[in-house]
Amino acid sequence: IMIELYRVTKRYANGVSALSDVTCTIDDGEFVYLSGPSGAGKTTLVRLLICMEQVSEGQVLVKSRNLRMLRKKSIPFLRRNIGVVFQNFRLLHNRTVFDNVAIGLEIRGIPAAEIRPRVMQTLEMVSLGEYAAAFPQMLSGGEQQRVAIARALVNEPAILVADEPTGNLDSKLSEEILQLLIEVQRRGTTVIVATHDERLMEKFPGRI
Ligand code: ADP
Repeated sequence: IMIELYRVTKRYANGVSALSDVTCTIDDGEFVYLSGPSGAGKTTLVRLLICMEQVSEGQVLVKSRNLRMLRKKSIPFLRRNIGVVFQNFRLLHNRTVFDNVAIGLEIRGIPAAEIRPRVMQTLEMVSLGEYAAAFPQMLSGGEQQRVAIARALVNEPAILVADEPTGNLDSKLSEEILQLLIEVQRRGTTVIVATHDERLMEKFPGRI
């Protein structure tokens, strides 16, 4: 088991109950969807997983670690194990594609000589090897989302979480992104895709 939620409730300070009494498990290496309309609590669940928010009630376990017991200084290690991709890509527009992907490794103090091959290998995996020197704004939306996926994968996380990764893309590009995420799962990563796109879930079936 990679992730366990046990009777998780999340209430925000304004009293909104975003999740109530959610129990589920996600296996090591599984591909799963978090589905539901806007406001269903998908993003809240993602935030709980990366300790951006804390549960109001219940427990969240990642790799058998109870996130309630996690010390503050362990949070960076948790986040290294969970790559996150957002709907709006969140790339740095004044940095090249290469630099956008390299940042996570630089922050960790990985030597430059090691960074280069790892970034290039990751960019090749998302078919963007030739765009390393380009700036994000020169790329299409689908390509920008692939840069964001490369950035999330460069630390080789055990889990990849994509929060509405296709929300800003047309249907053809959305399918390409889904195919890539399924490929990531086939290579052994646990992949969680939050989406409200029912057509996509029909085309690429997975546990919901
Ligand atoms: P989804 O990702 O499925 O659209 P969210 O997790 O973003 O759902 O939101 C679930 C509910 O929690 C919504 O009603 C939303 O307005 C509310 N919510 C989300 N973030 C906050 C916050 N920081 N403070 C208060 N309410 C929030």
